Amino acid sequence: MFKWIIIGGGIQGCSVAARLLHHQKVTEDELLIIDPHREPIEAWKSFTNKIGMSYLRSPSVHHLNPDPYSLKKYAKSNDYAQAFKGYYQRPRLDMFNQHCTELFDHLGLQSCWKQDTVEGLDYHRGLWSVTTASNQSFDAENVVLAMGVNHRPHYPEWAAELKAEFPDRIMHVFEEREGINLNHSIAVVGGGMTAAHLANTLSQRSHGLVTLIKRHPFRQKDFDSDPGWLGPKYLNKYNQITCYKERRTLIQKARHLGSITKGLYVRLKRHERDRKLTIVTDEIKKVCPSKKGLEIKMKNSPPIQTDALLLATGAESSLPGREWLSAVIQEHHLPCAPCGFPVVDSRLQWKKGLFVAGALAELELGPVARNIAGARKAAARIAESS
Ligand SMILES: Cc1cc2nc3c(=O)[nH]c(=O)nc-3n(C[C@H](O)[C@H](O)[C@H](O)COP(=O)(O)OP(=O)(O)OC[C@H]3O[C@@H](n4cnc5c(N)ncnc54)[C@H](O)[C@@H]3O)c2cc1C
Repeated sequence: MFKWIIIGGGIQGCSVAARLLHHQKVTEDELLIIDPHREPIEAWKSFTNKIGMSYLRSPSVHHLNPDPYSLKKYAKSNDYAQAFKGYYQRPRLDMFNQHCTELFDHLGLQSCWKQDTVEGLDYHRGLWSVTTASNQSFDAENVVLAMGVNHRPHYPEWAAELKAEFPDRIMHVFEEREGINLNHSIAVVGGGMTAAHLANTLSQRSHGLVTLIKRHPFRQKDFDSDPGWLGPKYLNKYNQITCYKERRTLIQKARHLGSITKGLYVRLKRHERDRKLTIVTDEIKKVCPSKKGLEIKMKNSPPIQTDALLLATGAESSLPGREWLSAVIQEHHLPCAPCGFPVVDSRLQWKKGLFVAGALAELELGPVARNIAGARKAAARIAESS
């Protein structure tokens, strides 16, 4: 029997784990983190590496160590060059990741790790019972749901059928497989940071033509929501709203979906000027196989020929873990908002001993919930409550 089980060992789950261990709310033998990957935050490392991201979007105080200044101190004591970039002090990704690894090693996180996928959850006489794909079952006093959304790629309608027919020509960045051929021409689809990073990286590395296709003009924003959402400026009013439909509308309005930083915008425009990148702002009507690979038919502009399509069209918007969580919600009458997401208390507790983090905590934490800032908030609230 465990004191805590955390489902999902990504940025969110590992933030909670680190906080619980750091504050000695749990010992290594009393904590279990279940995740299909081999090690902590592997999914994050894999997709940020795949898109060639070198700096985070968030500032230096957003990381997984409970001490907000820890990354600053770490950069100095390890003598990192250009550790932070720009006015907002965005950290180098490799340094951020190494800082996480050293924190996890220090706290013994890997010894709490179980490589598996959760497929069910039940509650009996004050204990939560978690069942996994390998048919094992683990009991705990407390469970944290931190499954994230990135493992469920969103495919536009026109892509789904074609993808089944040409799996090697159409790939989503959130798919856990490699396969970008730098000798091929590649069209990147998407208008946000992931697509922009990919287009920037491919423009530098690819030997074939690179095209970025986005539906809307570039939206330049420093962050994916206004920093006012991190503190009382917007949260005081938000916290007073008792209607969850209204909270969801506010979150949707506040999140700058499909936006990119000025730095990335400038780099993409430079690649375009240097003819290393073609930028197309139009909607895709249809994609058909052609002699040369794929022909992308656009709504208002000429068709585009490409060998491969790389989708950076985000994640599905559905409830994380819905395949098994929907049954748990019904069985245990867990309160949900009209959008289907959890209604939890201020400690992020859904039912006694059942906690949420990340997207699942969004209605309580507001628009930053899915980010590292949200992970810090979730970790602090969950650790304080125990
Ligand atoms: C390209 C990109 C760049 C980003 N950059 C920033 C940034 O600079 N700053 C910032 O604050 N935010 C950033 N974000 C947003 C956010 O911080 C990341 O998406 C982060 O990975 C979210 O953490 P997570 O734990 O929710 O999800 P993940 O890191 O994806 O982890 C979730 C884990 O749960 C596992 N899991 C899922 N289902 C189950 C199950 N049933 N059983 C067991 N395990 C399961 C998954 O396999 C995965 O390992 C970025 C996002 C993207 C896509």
